Amino acid sequence: MNFNTIALEVLVWYRQNKRMLPWRQTSNPYFIWLSEIIMQQTRVAQGTGYYLRFIEAFPTIQHLAAAELNEVLKLWEGLGYYSRARNMHKAANQVVNAFDGQLPKTFAELTKISGIGTYTAAAIASICFGEKQPVIDGNVYRVLSRLFSIYTPINSHQAKAEFFSIGKNLIHTTDNPGDFNQGMMELGALVCLPKKPKCNHCPLQTCCKAYVDGTTELLPVKIPKKKSKTRFLNYLLYQKNEQINIEQRLEKDIWKGLFQFPLVESVTQISDADELKQLIKSAENWSKVHFTTHQLSHQTLRITFWTTSGESAHGKRILIEDLKHYAFPVPLKRFIYIKLLPLPALRTK
Ligand code: SF4
Repeated sequence: MNFNTIALEVLVWYRQNKRMLPWRQTSNPYFIWLSEIIMQQTRVAQGTGYYLRFIEAFPTIQHLAAAELNEVLKLWEGLGYYSRARNMHKAANQVVNAFDGQLPKTFAELTKISGIGTYTAAAIASICFGEKQPVIDGNVYRVLSRLFSIYTPINSHQAKAEFFSIGKNLIHTTDNPGDFNQGMMELGALVCLPKKPKCNHCPLQTCCKAYVDGTTELLPVKIPKKKSKTRFLNYLLYQKNEQINIEQRLEKDIWKGLFQFPLVESVTQISDADELKQLIKSAENWSKVHFTTHQLSHQTLRITFWTTSGESAHGKRILIEDLKHYAFPVPLKRFIYIKLLPLPALRTK
């Protein structure tokens, strides 16, 4: 099968098998952009709700640009990789101020916008403007590595250029680059699965080198991830008169821009209040109220919440019931809703 036939098979298959997702009913570049950012590292079932809430809250790029960052982060809460939301907000402002409120129509111009990388630029340029730029996401890497039996690790530096070049050759044979890109991604998501690919339902079976060689389970090759690092986070709850202190995370670290309670990071697990008092040089009485573990892609967070009835000048002091207006990382949000903001019905018991 030559490149021309492969592209045609993908297009025909896509037209017959694509899922009717909300962002597939539009070619509005702003909506396509939102969907691409939201769906990175996210399952469709989880991301769809976020997409619909975003287009309702911010129906145009001007609405997104005019929003407060906290509003955007609040809507993003729970989706993880918060830099995506911060970059999206920054990019919306750049488009409004430097591009007259319109996303540019070419791949080259799109990549000039902060936070729009080659992947997202290729998706917008091909789906909305018919430019022949291949989109190489995790699904496409998998399909291509099996189809052409490529053993270059897909998370290596060389892989990007190598796979992009194959994608480019394929997309140049089609007149519908948008559907071709979406077809490749959909094929990876529905048929060419990481484990147990459904080769008997694949339109590319007869030309797939890995299928013919019986090596589908060996591909794609990936360099193993670095070992996860463990961090010990101690959140300090200064609770008095229905008020509490919160602060915004501003340093270059996880959860930048989100809110938290005053934080002390320790090198080992703090097990009792005396140890905490020594660490933070405090005369207050502290009690441990909750402990949880939270896993991020490269970090294991062991989080302890400590409370005191004292006050602190750290951050700002707000009513506990107003915590719901701020964007918090998932483990803190969970703690807030379980321990600090119980349902009114439970509160009266
Ligand atoms: Fe993937 Fe199997 Fe299709 Fe090859 S034949 S592209 S391994 S689903």
